Amino acid sequence: MHDPDCLFCRIASGDIPADVVYETERTVAFRDIAPKAPVHVLVIPREHVASLAEVGGDDQQLLGELMLAARDVAAREGVSVEGFRTVLNSGLNGGQEVMHLHVHVLGGRPLIWPPG
Ligand code: 5GP
Ligand code: ZN
Repeated sequence: MHDPDCLFCRIASGDIPADVVYETERTVAFRDIAPKAPVHVLVIPREHVASLAEVGGDDQQLLGELMLAARDVAAREGVSVEGFRTVLNSGLNGGQEVMHLHVHVLGGRPLIWPPG
């Protein structure tokens, strides 16, 4: 489903411009507008899913594709060997600001866990 009021649906459809670095049939990856690391890419499903809390049992394949796309983004961005972090924020306490499922791929500097 495409939600015309959703920022990331609009990026996925090309309605709002973004620096797209990788695309598959069901996913799109683009640079975060406010990068927290030298590499900061967001990987999203093309279809609207609000958050991990909203994912259905039949979305198993989609979740796998998201993670494989994150792997491919890390490789293309040249951070696979040195390492990278994937982050998936959910809901208010999880710090999710955009209610369209997305995986952050961060790299290019040491990323200390837990964040401050
Ligand atoms: P969240 O906090 O929901 O996990 O992450 C949302 C991310 O989306 C933030 O890191 C924020 O910088 C990024 N973001 C918000 N608006 C835009 C936008 O219009 N374009 C892009 N490329 N990134 C955005
Ligand atoms: Zn959406």
